[in-house]
Amino acid sequence: LEINIVPMKMSGEDEPGLLLVMQDVSAIRKLERMRSEFVANVSHELKTPVAAVKGFAETLLAGAVNDPETARSFLTIIQDESDRLNRLIGDILELSKIESRRAPLQFSPIELPAFLARMTELLGTEAARKNIELDVQVEEGLFLEADEDRLGQIVMNLMQNGINYTPDGGKVKVRAFVVTPEDGAEEFVRLTVSDTGIGIPKKDIPRIFERFYRVDKARSRSSGGTGLGLSIVKHLTELHHGTIRVESTVGIGSQFILELPLIQP
Ligand code: ADP
Repeated sequence: LEINIVPMKMSGEDEPGLLLVMQDVSAIRKLERMRSEFVANVSHELKTPVAAVKGFAETLLAGAVNDPETARSFLTIIQDESDRLNRLIGDILELSKIESRRAPLQFSPIELPAFLARMTELLGTEAARKNIELDVQVEEGLFLEADEDRLGQIVMNLMQNGINYTPDGGKVKVRAFVVTPEDGAEEFVRLTVSDTGIGIPKKDIPRIFERFYRVDKARSRSSGGTGLGLSIVKHLTELHHGTIRVESTVGIGSQFILELPLIQP
């Protein structure tokens, strides 16, 4: 609780009065704390790839450049780390754009079967490289109102994670259908992305939508993750007046369940 006392001239009174302002600032403080934590995290995340680039460049200059095989492997690391840095900066900018509401959504009707076919095509090569089957089934003629680019980001992130966290030879399934609630509430679309992957431990489930939260840092890093994908997904889902949750069993797989209104309220 923050208390401020302000002297004040009261109308119709000769003696000045006092104004007592009591304000509950816990929400503001919490926001400030979250913000500074985020800045600390961002700095740390940015420094890691920069340190790797610098370290390997120094080693090359100190002589490693003379051995072609070593040089090639160090340069590959420098390239990968630069790519990571780029993705990280892209995701951070995206998140800040979403949070500051600088980029209002543009809703239009989207035909889900064609839309999901495009997503599958975009991820086809990557899935094939790991011999992962992408299996998409969607109600024919299913339309929903959404921001097409943003919906693309949501679905791509979920499918990409499905591929990343599933061992070779596994399967990523996408399903989309209309749900009609029995209590007469509005119909909505349920879109699920499930995989036969490593799963998420129970204790981590409540935290995976937080920025930079990863169950296994090394694994996320090696698959090229930034740790921001799911927090972007969650934000974008909320901007679509929808919900997202996950069910998962370690060693069996995960299912992300996205629910979106058919028509934006
Ligand atoms: P990342 O870039 O690390 O993948 P995300 O925000 O997309 O970041 O996901 C956060 C964490 O949630 C991941 O690091 C991983 O531990 C876990 N996760 C996300 N999707 C899956 C999945 N399909 N299977 C298992 N774990 C997952």
